[in-house]
Amino acid sequence: MLSNDTICALATANGMGAIAVIRISGPDAITKADEIFQSKFGNKKLLAVDSHTVHLGYVKQNNTLLDEALFTVFKGPNSYTGEDVVEISTHGSVYIQQKVMELLNRIGVRNANPGEYTFRAFWNGKMDLSQAEAVADLIASDSQASHEIALKQMRGGFSNQIKELREEMINFAALMELELDFSEEDVEFANRDKFNELLNKLQNTLKKLADSFAYGNVIKNGVPVAIVGAPNAGKSTLLNALLNEERAIVSDIEGTTRDTIEEVLNINGIAFRFIDTAGLRTSGDKIEQIGIEKTREKIKQAKVVIHLYDVHRMTEQMVAQQLDELLQSNNIVLNVANKIDETSAKNAISDELKKEFPDVIHLAISARENIGIEELKQALSNQVQQLGSSSDDTIVSNSRHLSALQNTLKQIHKIREGLQHNLPGDLLAIDIREALAYLGEITGEIDVDQDILGTIFGKFCIGK
Ligand code: GDP
Repeated sequence: MLSNDTICALATANGMGAIAVIRISGPDAITKADEIFQSKFGNKKLLAVDSHTVHLGYVKQNNTLLDEALFTVFKGPNSYTGEDVVEISTHGSVYIQQKVMELLNRIGVRNANPGEYTFRAFWNGKMDLSQAEAVADLIASDSQASHEIALKQMRGGFSNQIKELREEMINFAALMELELDFSEEDVEFANRDKFNELLNKLQNTLKKLADSFAYGNVIKNGVPVAIVGAPNAGKSTLLNALLNEERAIVSDIEGTTRDTIEEVLNINGIAFRFIDTAGLRTSGDKIEQIGIEKTREKIKQAKVVIHLYDVHRMTEQMVAQQLDELLQSNNIVLNVANKIDETSAKNAISDELKKEFPDVIHLAISARENIGIEELKQALSNQVQQLGSSSDDTIVSNSRHLSALQNTLKQIHKIREGLQHNLPGDLLAIDIREALAYLGEITGEIDVDQDILGTIFGKFCIGK
């Protein structure tokens, strides 16, 4: 991926549009753009213009004019990639887009690979690796919540939190290495108490970040929800009632299994994925075939379990038994009594049951008559929002980051043990360097494996 030739790509979506933007980046970006630019007024040359200026003109091929277009010039390092960049905004016909690209290719500008612009931005120090990954997440985000997380990370959420602590750690490692040179004299340059304090701070910060993954991951991929309950409890009716108003547009979520059909519902900016609704939506007989095993599997995949039951068919003792089992799964559990249209809503769930299961959200609804559906939706989004801490915090939503955080935490634990056993400074320093290496994997401050970089940037679309 590492090259410094001049590249081009369509930056806007494929197909016809009002305008199309073709982006050129690299050392010859401005020279090459100049070759196909003819100013509308006078004899302007792009090479002579200031950075961050827009110029009206024509795209010309030899002496033929292809289109009237705007040329925006960014001079490196003040551009997205850090290189010279020219963006050509043409009219959005597919024909014009193709012709401009062909023209650029003909004069020696290469078509960019997926993610190559962002890779260059990373390589030129315009953003760190976690920010580059956030760009991909931002483009892929399909709900308000996932958009917020990506945006925060792109603006440097991670890097800012870790940077200072990382620098202090580097400092300590250096001091401890220095002690080695004076080992005869038994001196301590690195104050162990201060170092312990730093470790505490680092551990707290990293732990909070690692813990946020539980929230970040479900937000990014959609919160998996399983509706479980006996046949005829009203599961399909409930699903239909939930989906009725706001069937979500999203369906193609990366990394999720496609063999089960999932329905996605957007509630208050959070995407909820209803697991295995194919099974849920079939006839009563089939559900029985699916059996308990399948239900257990669903519960395992879920983050939220809605226990739905026909209020006329289950005794509270039976409900309690179910809840006991469901709570073992560590999921958020909503206990939902259905078919209250046939009974009095007030008595649907007794106070005793609510007292017995204070961590469960209890609701009484009628899926068929649309009673209590809004409350159920509200409860779903409230519960998930509570998983995330304050909205100012950086949320980890990337499993690569999580594993780097966990490895760093393990390493910190090792350093602590070393300190307790009065390990000499040089040995401690080795452990510190290792912790720093893990930490650096997140932001790409240390050498990240080329394969990993390839995987990260390969996921981008072309033109980003
Ligand atoms: P599932 O087997 O759990 O998916 O249950 P269904 O959604 O197929 O519903 C079973 C039966 O209960 C159907 O005849 C529904 O019309 C009925 N039903 C579902 N919700 C309600 C409700 O809120 N009130 C009443 N009275 N009947 C309901």
